[in-house]
Amino acid sequence: MKPRKRIRKVSPRKRLINATKDVIRELYRIKYGSRCQICGKTRNDLGLFHILPTGRYSRLELAEDNILWAGWFCCHHKFHHDFYLAKDIEKRIQALRGKTYYKRLQKLAETAPKMDEAQIKEYKEEYKRKLVEAKQDDTYPEITLDIG
Ligand SMILES: [Zn+2]
Repeated sequence: MKPRKRIRKVSPRKRLINATKDVIRELYRIKYGSRCQICGKTRNDLGLFHILPTGRYSRLELAEDNILWAGWFCCHHKFHHDFYLAKDIEKRIQALRGKTYYKRLQKLAETAPKMDEAQIKEYKEEYKRKLVEAKQDDTYPEITLDIG
C-alpha cells in the first residue's frame, strides 16, 4: 500500500501572512544584505527574527519594530535556547533598537490592531511600498560590523 501523503491545509489568512513575510524577507535582504544584524557575520541561514515571539504576541508577527534579520544558528536559535547568550543578544538588540525597545514593543503589543485579513493586507501593501523605496535607496545594504 502506498503511504498516504499528508496534505496540510493552509488557510487563506495564513497564506497571506506567509506572502507578506516573503516581502519582508526581500526588503530585509536589500536593507541588511547577507549579514546577521546581531553578530554581523555573513550567513546563509538568515531569516526573520521576532524579538517578541509570535506565539504569544501574534499581533506583532508583521510589525517591523519586532523583526530583525538574523542567522538561525549564530544567533536566533541561541536567543531562544541559551540563557547566557540570550543576554548578549539582548544587549545587541538594545544597541540596534534603543535601550527601551522591550517596553516599546510591550506597548505596541497592547495597541497593535487585530490581525484579520484586511489588516494583514494593509501590512503587505506597506511592505511592498517600502520595498520599492529600498530598491531605489543606494545607501543599502546598511553596513553591519562583525561584532562576534
Ligand atoms: Zn548572528
